[in-house]
Amino acid sequence: MKLKKYYKIKIKKIKKFQRNNNGNIFIGITAILLISFLILSVFILNFTIENEKENINSIENDQFEYIIQDYKRNIPIVEKEAIKELSEEVITKKTPLFDSKVEIKKLSNEKLKQLNIEYLKNYNIQINSSLTSIENTSDPFDIRLKTYVSIVKNGKDNNRESSNIKEEKFYENIEENDINIEGLKDPIPFLKCGNDWSFSYNNTTIFYGESLAKYLEDKEIENSSAYINSTTPLIIKKCPYDPYKHHGDANTMKICRDTGYFHESADGACYICRLEGKSGCNHYGFETFINPQSTNKTNLTAACGSDHVIFGENTYPGIECIYYSYNGLNEILFLDKNGHRVKYGMNT
Ligand SMILES: [Zn+2]
Ligand SMILES: [Zn+2]
Repeated sequence: MKLKKYYKIKIKKIKKFQRNNNGNIFIGITAILLISFLILSVFILNFTIENEKENINSIENDQFEYIIQDYKRNIPIVEKEAIKELSEEVITKKTPLFDSKVEIKKLSNEKLKQLNIEYLKNYNIQINSSLTSIENTSDPFDIRLKTYVSIVKNGKDNNRESSNIKEEKFYENIEENDINIEGLKDPIPFLKCGNDWSFSYNNTTIFYGESLAKYLEDKEIENSSAYINSTTPLIIKKCPYDPYKHHGDANTMKICRDTGYFHESADGACYICRLEGKSGCNHYGFETFINPQSTNKTNLTAACGSDHVIFGENTYPGIECIYYSYNGLNEILFLDKNGHRVKYGMNT
C-alpha cells in the first residue's frame, strides 16, 4: 500500500511538471511568433517606403524627361518666330538688317529667356539656353541653328517638406535644329522697290506697278519698260519640279509661275543675306522669277528675269520665252540663252 501511494504522488508530480513545461513551450512559441511578426512588419514597412521612394523617383525621372523633350520641341518654334518677326520688321520698315545673324541671335535669346521664366514658374525647373550658331545647309530652304541648353531640377521642392526623397537632375546639350524658311516673306522686292507709290502686294503676290521699271531705268538697263506691272511671289516656297529642266515640259512652267515657286541657285542669295538686302551671296541660295505682264509682242529682249540678275550688280539681258498663250496674249519670262533657259529646259 505504501508503495502504491508513493507511485501515485510521483505520477501527480510528473503530470504537474508536464503541465508547467507545456506552458513554457507555449510562451516560447508565442514569443518567437511575435518577434517574427515584428521583424516581418518592419521589413514590409521598409520595403513599402523604399518602393514608394523608387516610385516617386521614377515618376520624377519620367516628368524630367518629358520636360526636356517638351523644351527641345519649343526651341526651333521660338527661333523661327524670331526670324519671322525680324523679316516682318524688315518688310514694314523697308530697312535691311545690318547683321542678320547677330539680330537673329539677339531676338531668339530674348524669346528663350521668356520661355525659361515660364518653365521655372510651371515646373520649378531652372533652364539656361542661348542660340550660339547660325549656319547655311546644303538645302538653301533650311537654316541650321545650334542652341546651348542646360536644365536643372533641384532636389528641394518649395511646395513639399519631404524633400529628402528627391534627387537633383541635370541635362546639358547643344541642340541642333534645321529651320525651314518656307512660308516666310521674301524681303528683297520690298527693300529694292518698296518705297515707290505704285508698289503693292496681297497675301501671295507682289505687284511692282512702275517701281521695278523705274529701278531698272535708274540703272540704265535696256527696255526697262518691259517690267511695268510685273509681278513676283511674296511667300517663299520650294519648287517641287526637280530636276528643273522639266519646267519645259507641258504646263510645268505655267504651274510653277502661278504658284510662285523659288528654286535652288548658287548665284541667288540665301535667306539670311536677303534680310541684309543682298540679292546674291557666297552661300548656296535660291532664286525666283519676275513675271512681266502678258503681251502679244514677240521677240522682245529685256533684263533677265531671275531676281538675282535683276537686282544684282551685273544685270544681263534675256530673250522672251513664251510658256503659256491664251486669247492672243503670251505669258512670258526673259531668260538668258545659255544660262537660265538651259537650267529650266526652256531652250526649245
Ligand atoms: Zn519651278
Ligand atoms: Zn547668304
